[in-house]
Amino acid sequence: MREYLYKQALHPTPSDESLPSCWCVPDRSEDVRSRQHVRDLIDDPGHVACTIGVLVLLSRLTQCPFAVRSGGHAAFQGASSEEDGITVSLSRLNQVTVARDRKTVKVGSGNVWGLVYSVLDKQGLTVPGGRDANVGVGGLSLGGGISYFAGSVGMTVDNIESYELVTASGIPITVTANGLYSDLYWALRGGGNNFGIVISYTYPAIERNDVWGGSRAYMADQWPAVISAYISGAKAEDEHFNQIISFARASDTLRIANAQIYYSLPEPGDVVEPYLAIPNNLSDTYGTKTVSELAIELSQDSPNGDRQIWHIQAAQIDEELFTSLVDIFDSEVDAVYDQVNAFAPAMVCQHIDRNILSHMKKNGGNPLGIADSPPLMLYFFSGRWDDAADDQVVYDLTKRVAAKWKAETQKHGLASDYLYLNYASRFQDPISSYGASNKARLVKIAKQYDPTGVFQELMPGGFKLNGTPNDLLE
Ligand SMILES: Cc1cc2nc3c(=O)[nH]c(=O)nc-3n(C[C@H](O)[C@H](O)[C@H](O)COP(=O)(O)OP(=O)(O)OC[C@H]3O[C@@H](n4cnc5c(N)ncnc54)[C@H](O)[C@@H]3O)c2cc1C
Repeated sequence: MREYLYKQALHPTPSDESLPSCWCVPDRSEDVRSRQHVRDLIDDPGHVACTIGVLVLLSRLTQCPFAVRSGGHAAFQGASSEEDGITVSLSRLNQVTVARDRKTVKVGSGNVWGLVYSVLDKQGLTVPGGRDANVGVGGLSLGGGISYFAGSVGMTVDNIESYELVTASGIPITVTANGLYSDLYWALRGGGNNFGIVISYTYPAIERNDVWGGSRAYMADQWPAVISAYISGAKAEDEHFNQIISFARASDTLRIANAQIYYSLPEPGDVVEPYLAIPNNLSDTYGTKTVSELAIELSQDSPNGDRQIWHIQAAQIDEELFTSLVDIFDSEVDAVYDQVNAFAPAMVCQHIDRNILSHMKKNGGNPLGIADSPPLMLYFFSGRWDDAADDQVVYDLTKRVAAKWKAETQKHGLASDYLYLNYASRFQDPISSYGASNKARLVKIAKQYDPTGVFQELMPGGFKLNGTPNDLLE
């Protein structure tokens, strides 16, 4: 089985193993210098939308499959590149335009968040996007989006004022909560790439660019304290706080925890105290930074170029359950660690509290199906390795860990079906996890705007409406 090579975000060629026949890079663009009228035409976002519309129509005419790629961080082969087809890289759709009144920011869908934040930092502004500088605007904004500001404003999908979208007809439209396409607006808030190609997103601007955060690493003897701090942070309901806690195997004998915590004000609140109280940290980068500095720092923990899998689950917040889940991860990894070359397994944990959930119903709601859920722990199995010969060992391990996690959450009566699309693996079906009626509504909306199934059949990459990517790939 061919597998995914972790993609190089700023690189102009696909670095997974797919070999597209055609590499298409629509440009808005500064490159064209020859004649003023040509430059004006190409600088016009409407023209870019037309170019992408033509591509959709050509693909329909020739039945040539295509894929769309923004930052290229989807964690499996073929999600954003098309073997023997066309791969459309949006990398040159990289405009960041602040409205005159500073209330909104229009962002080209090919940007990576680091570039967006570096432009906005200079103006004392930011937007609720990804926390890692190399991640793409395009993918993150279609699946959810947990930002440094998620507690105070909600997920990225709950903060998009408008989308410029090319639908299956090839026609560009503007999608807003109260406009002609309010059904599409609902669908785009988590429905993935099933409805069209987004040219730009307009986000509300946040008047701040300095926040607090960073990471501290600990040896395994501090895991119980880190677990307690994670649970206390998840239960605190402090709208400024968020956390990414990783329990990782660094070598045969070395097990570490990495506590990346964030506070969306220049100084942290009391919620971080349980973390600050843990002794014997191996490293410490906590401090006040700009959003782009923090995003660049976070990206240094995720090197490009490895094979990778992420496999997500969720459950209600509970310390005893969480301790069992960490133990399951640790003992299952222990059993096969030596069998996988250059193996870097981790259990990565975040949370969705009432603050984040409370924004899910605004502007007509979103399809994620968790607006009325209790607060959730989100945790995923993350594996990086470098040899294709080890793929099956890692896949089997992932499935074993996931099955034991699920059984444990069910035993405690705290399981959640929700699968966060942006952290899901090729073996998962996040759209079905949104619940039968939300899925049915997504399917209905897709049929209305895309009756021939262009974004199901001709653009097969990513999480589709009819099964796991793996079912569709095999
Ligand atoms: C190191 C790392 C850090 C991360 N940090 C965060 C985080 O802080 N918060 C969070 O919520 N998530 C985070 N994620 C998850 C991230 O949101 C997903 O991996 C997301 O899919 C990445 O988007 P992308 O544009 O980089 O990927 P891509 O692979 O380019 O795209 C992902 C999917 O979206 C589709 N797509 C992309 N752009 C468009 C478009 N304009 N129109 C239509 N379809 C499009 C693609 O076809 C593909 O199927 C992180 C991931 C990684 C690897």
